[in-house]
Amino acid sequence: MKALHPSALESLARRRAPEGSWILSVYLNLDPQVRASRRGAHKLVLEQMLRDLEAALEDPQAAEHFQEDAEWVRNQVSLHIPRGKSLVLFCDISEGYTYHEDLPVRLPNGAWYERRPYIRPLLDAWKEYERTGIVVVDREKARLLVASMGEVEEVEEAFQTPAVRHRSTAGTDHMRSQMVFQRRAATWSHWFLKEVADSLHDMIEEHGIDRVVLAGPEEVTAELKRILPKGVLARVAARVRAPVATKARDLMDMVTPVLRELDAAREKDLVAECITSARKAQAESPKAVLGLDAVLDAVNQGRVYQILVPTGFSASGWHCPACDVLLDHAPARETCPYCSGSLQEMDDVVWAACDRVLAMGGKVEEIGADGAKETLRKDGPLGAFLR
Ligand SMILES: [Zn+2]
Repeated sequence: MKALHPSALESLARRRAPEGSWILSVYLNLDPQVRASRRGAHKLVLEQMLRDLEAALEDPQAAEHFQEDAEWVRNQVSLHIPRGKSLVLFCDISEGYTYHEDLPVRLPNGAWYERRPYIRPLLDAWKEYERTGIVVVDREKARLLVASMGEVEEVEEAFQTPAVRHRSTAGTDHMRSQMVFQRRAATWSHWFLKEVADSLHDMIEEHGIDRVVLAGPEEVTAELKRILPKGVLARVAARVRAPVATKARDLMDMVTPVLRELDAAREKDLVAECITSARKAQAESPKAVLGLDAVLDAVNQGRVYQILVPTGFSASGWHCPACDVLLDHAPARETCPYCSGSLQEMDDVVWAACDRVLAMGGKVEEIGADGAKETLRKDGPLGAFLR
């Protein structure tokens, strides 16, 4: 999942191919049914995209380079065991350049043959994907980490300049110096947490952080939370107890269930909102729709802003190759109700609908949380918010 790291994006953006031998960029929205289905829908899509690109090439030398690159891509895809939701491939075989990676986000299908790797979908995905900032802190040390798509990375470390303990003295002098020391230590600690709050603010800006988790001893994170600037405070999603030296991986393991709970709550709200808006919708301009047929209808009209799909849900359906309409069932004689063209049967019309939504700049929200998923399946099984 390194492709969505800012530094990886930068190095991809800098890559240029020599004249006459360009770079083939391919994005494949992986068919979730690929394991079950004998012919993965995405392989058919790939074939079509490659054929379209090749047909547009006039120069025979360019076509030859293209065929070489296309062959590599076909090979990779046929050997590929899906680990993510999309697959991205860049290659220029004659230059020995290849790159492929599974992505944990759904990206629309697409292929380009250009001088540079086509990274726009990756940039969009980067913006889209939620990033969590984690600060783990005690009174002497703080570490800032960024977690995204299951990966976690340390970005900054801060230490308090320790309050210097004076030479030990005897009796009342000792008592007094202890008190002075404690007071000084408290002041230092407060300043230190203020510094941490500032660093946290900067990290949010720099890394595009959506939410923040404060980790550390209970009283330290409580104090830190009290002094956070409003903008940072608004992003605090949770506090967890953890020693400041906790390894990044272990920290992630502690934070993940907390984030999962937050996500589950969000999914539940989304589903509830969709159901409520769809039910009270006036025929004129509904904000949301429910049901396979209604959602496909909205997709066909290009009106879906966000589609809600229960994880793992699929349904067979029909597709009109002439006008691109998607249907959950075919009318009599299997002809398209819009253009009277002949319809083709599809293994998974839900996948095709998601792809269409993504291609139009919309979002696909997989609903996997217990409760939310069952509710959506029962009342939907699909839901959609409309533009
Ligand atoms: Zn049609």
